[in-house]
Amino acid sequence: MKITAIRVYQVDLPLHEGSYKWSGGNAVSVFDSTVVAVETDDGITGWGEICPLGPAYLPAYARGARAGIAELAPQLLGADPLALGELNELMDNAMRGHPYVKSAIDMACWDVLGQASGLSVATLMGGHVGEDFALYRAISQEAPAQMAERIAHYRSEGYRKFQLKVGGDPDTDIDRIRAAAAVLERGDVLIADANTGWTQHAAMRVVDAVRDVDVYIEQPCLTYEQCLAVRRHTNRPFVLDEVVDGIDMLVRGVADQAMDVINLKISKVGGLTKARQIRDLCVSLGIAMTIEDTWGGDITTAAIAHLAHSTPERFLFSSTDFNSYVSVAVADGAPQRKHGRLAASREPGLGVQPMMHVLGKPLGVFP
Ligand code: MG
Repeated sequence: MKITAIRVYQVDLPLHEGSYKWSGGNAVSVFDSTVVAVETDDGITGWGEICPLGPAYLPAYARGARAGIAELAPQLLGADPLALGELNELMDNAMRGHPYVKSAIDMACWDVLGQASGLSVATLMGGHVGEDFALYRAISQEAPAQMAERIAHYRSEGYRKFQLKVGGDPDTDIDRIRAAAAVLERGDVLIADANTGWTQHAAMRVVDAVRDVDVYIEQPCLTYEQCLAVRRHTNRPFVLDEVVDGIDMLVRGVADQAMDVINLKISKVGGLTKARQIRDLCVSLGIAMTIEDTWGGDITTAAIAHLAHSTPERFLFSSTDFNSYVSVAVADGAPQRKHGRLAASREPGLGVQPMMHVLGKPLGVFP
């Protein structure tokens, strides 16, 4: 099989809550998402999506994704979309770094592989584990009482895992964590995600102040070394996210016992092929994962669901249903949350049928 064309679409995804706020005063109200179609000489079209969390979260931004795809796409024409190892080699040789640029193309080729084989991507990645899997809900950074109210609201919708956006003023963050913990029930999971926002000394203060709270600490500081210092100081379970951007950092973190859980985002590591490699290594090494992406709509959510649903349950710490955060649907067939849980489609490929009237005209067509 050969790739005959690559089409690139842009879609705006507004948030139901109006805006999403995290550390450092960062906020996004409308996500700029890029949808990619990979066409083949077999008549199969595969779909992928890349949606950075604005330009200030990771070294990635929406127009950068599209510029990168425009650079890469002409070099992929004629390549075999079923040979995902080779395809990734080709992309890495043609463009150094920029993993997020490659993610939607790799995702679309997994969709092609699934359609061509008649199997769901989850089946190809190890098989659907159980009926469904648990999601977390991100709680946008607000005043402590407001965040506790949001938890109670989303708890009533079925979520049992809550990721508090902290990484602001450390005293207010201590209040946020305590207010959130106060509304939880036995079995609920609370994560305080600073998204790199605390200085090392502020992080030391916060983790000391919540030593008696049943809370996970996620990515307190900007660098790996700062996070490691905090990790060695705290008795709370520890999650690394932003600094784990590939298999090298996973291996280093495991060697240092730097974390109990990683946050595995598909586009942060360059696509489903690399995310699956990291997922499988984590399972072998006993590291649990939150499996998700930086953001996205129906296609990203479908890809997340296939990787998460094929992960052994005790190593799947949580996952995300981004398509329920945004008010625009871009595809039929995408998984829909039920009682705080999600299931990957059993249809071939990703199981999504893009809504062409929503995607509109492509911004780029190669060739
Ligand atoms: Mg995180």
